[in-house]
Amino acid sequence: MTKLEKLRPCLEGARVLVTDPVDGLLLEALKAAGLEVDYRPGITRGELLVAIPGYDALVVRSRTKVDRVVIERAERLKVIARAGVGLDNIDVHAAHEHGIRVVNAPGAATQSVAELTIALLIAAARRLHESIELARKGIWKKVMGVELYGKTLAVIGFGRIGRRVTEIAKAIGMDIIAYDVVDISNYAEKLGVSVAHSLHDALAEADAVTLHVPLTPDTYHLMSWDEFRVMKRGAILVNTSRGAVVDSEALLWALEEGIVGAAALDVLEHEPPETEAERKLAAHPRVILTTHIGASTIEAQRRVAVETARKLIEALADARGC
Ligand code: NAD
Repeated sequence: MTKLEKLRPCLEGARVLVTDPVDGLLLEALKAAGLEVDYRPGITRGELLVAIPGYDALVVRSRTKVDRVVIERAERLKVIARAGVGLDNIDVHAAHEHGIRVVNAPGAATQSVAELTIALLIAAARRLHESIELARKGIWKKVMGVELYGKTLAVIGFGRIGRRVTEIAKAIGMDIIAYDVVDISNYAEKLGVSVAHSLHDALAEADAVTLHVPLTPDTYHLMSWDEFRVMKRGAILVNTSRGAVVDSEALLWALEEGIVGAAALDVLEHEPPETEAERKLAAHPRVILTTHIGASTIEAQRRVAVETARKLIEALADARGC
């Protein structure tokens, strides 16, 4: 008998609410474990607040905000599963206070986000968006770019994604300077990269900067006026982490000053853009903006589905004393 088959009797009848779009594999795995699954990917906050008291587990991606108000209404809730990496849309502290376990799929999207990061870096260096736009209009004009070979890339946040980006960027011939708040000397040595003593030291040396930190109170607007001021003129900024890691107003200023030569962003503090600065960034000729697609590949979503289902099932079984 498999572990799942053993857990099935204990999970029978437990109810799971899924409030964001997820891979069908995740829904199938939960149902196969005997769970009753309600898939409501378009649910509004008001509907969520009404529905949540009836559920034992909740599955979200990044759209649903699981704050203290939601958690305090969730009388039966034992597990919140984030089908992805970042937990910044979940009040983990409030969840733990209420004895609710929070699980996620930390490594499942690493390769997809790393590949998108490199795609954005190359797109910004070669001004692909401008050339594509010209071609669409039937205008055959040269667009002059720069090579990445021999240039220095600052990798801010040397975790799973930062390290994978490093491996790929090194294959292009880039020199890497890494910065993290934890000791990364072992990884740095293994990957053959230099370590910056401070964020500003890393920024000052870089021809391109890529951000791979989680969004926390410490990293909110990590890139702001003072950080842009120390960057090399014309440097490229890539952000595939979380929008609020970058202060949009400061970035707009840095672009207009010519400090940031091009910015390639998969994330914004508000998605879609809400503030004037965000709308200006979205329309800026030297900004490439994508719609938060870092983890949106078939492979990443499958890995996320399998890992999230397994962790949810184990956590729920454990919470039920099985
Ligand atoms: P990770 O936890 O493996 O690595 C994050 C690293 O950032 C850690 O080494 C940590 O010590 C470091 N860090 C934290 N605060 C820092 C600071 N102030 N300065 C420098 N370093 C700091 O996470 P990961 O799997 O590499 O993911 C990174 C981020 O990518 C996630 O938190 C998530 O927000 C984002 N992400 C985005 C997408 C997308 O769709 N665009 C998808 C997945 C993940």
